[in-house]
Amino acid sequence: MKLIIDNLSKTYSNGIKALQNISLEIPQGMFGLLGPNGAGKSTLMRTIATLQEADQGSIFLDDIDVLNQKNELRQVLGYLPQQFGLYPKISAEVLLNHFAVLKGISEKGERNDLVKALLQKTNLYDVRKQNLSGYSGGMKQRFGIAQALLNNPKLLIVDEPTAGLDPVERNRFYNVLSELGERTVVILSTHIVDDVKELCTNMAIINQGQVSLKGNPLKIIEELKGKVYKKTIEKSELESYRQHYQVISEKLFLGQPTIHIISDVNPGNGFSLINAELEDVYFAQIFNQNTNLKTIS
Ligand code: ADP
Repeated sequence: MKLIIDNLSKTYSNGIKALQNISLEIPQGMFGLLGPNGAGKSTLMRTIATLQEADQGSIFLDDIDVLNQKNELRQVLGYLPQQFGLYPKISAEVLLNHFAVLKGISEKGERNDLVKALLQKTNLYDVRKQNLSGYSGGMKQRFGIAQALLNNPKLLIVDEPTAGLDPVERNRFYNVLSELGERTVVILSTHIVDDVKELCTNMAIINQGQVSLKGNPLKIIEELKGKVYKKTIEKSELESYRQHYQVISEKLFLGQPTIHIISDVNPGNGFSLINAELEDVYFAQIFNQNTNLKTIS
């Protein structure tokens, strides 16, 4: 099972080039699509999910031609969109059962078993009788996963699932997702670096509609080894450091800015070498298009 996206482009009628010649090979397992807001992630996810058209290019899931065989793809697709507004005053168990009927699982015993298994898998079994309208954000997202898994999909698309979740809920959601990766192509679109760090064996960063980096997260981080330095400075010095160094991130620590820079040689001047993190890779890509990282697979 493999998803192959080749040379995919989309320009909206307002002239925004949301996707520009995107090419990606996405194998089984968890794939992280990381990029800032407006990068084109949702456009790509919706196109793969057959919900909108591309201008150019192709997408194949094994031998299914996604852009031309929409019904075939939909039969093996699970999709959790960025926003889904279905929180009625009925219980998770009843609604999931109802969705299962809609998906054509007509035999009652089989349906009950499946609903039970999915509620257990998504850690909602204990709250299955509660109305969805009273669910927390994290519980709703896990319900979204349960409904997306009803047809035992070969391709699962999850668009920005952890936005707005608190750290505890985010962790619960990670645990549910991490169980799924083995026999399915799972694409997780996110602007949260930790989502990818925790879960994904392959990833791509997209920015302004283009793939700027793709590969295995650990190998990608390895590329920055020995090149990321840190220093805590005064606020008034920030501008000067920005001019003299390749600053990839600026964070406040106890009210004082701590900067990370990329440098091939030891910059001295009080900087200390640190272990590169995926976040450094991400910031380097997003804020410094001129770093020399490229495809690492
Ligand atoms: P992301 O999911 O990474 O935040 P999107 O795919 O939603 O990015 O958006 C990519 C770009 O396309 C953005 O500049 C956004 O404003 C624009 N865009 C998205 N949807 C539409 C649309 N229906 N019509 C016009 N422009 C759009």
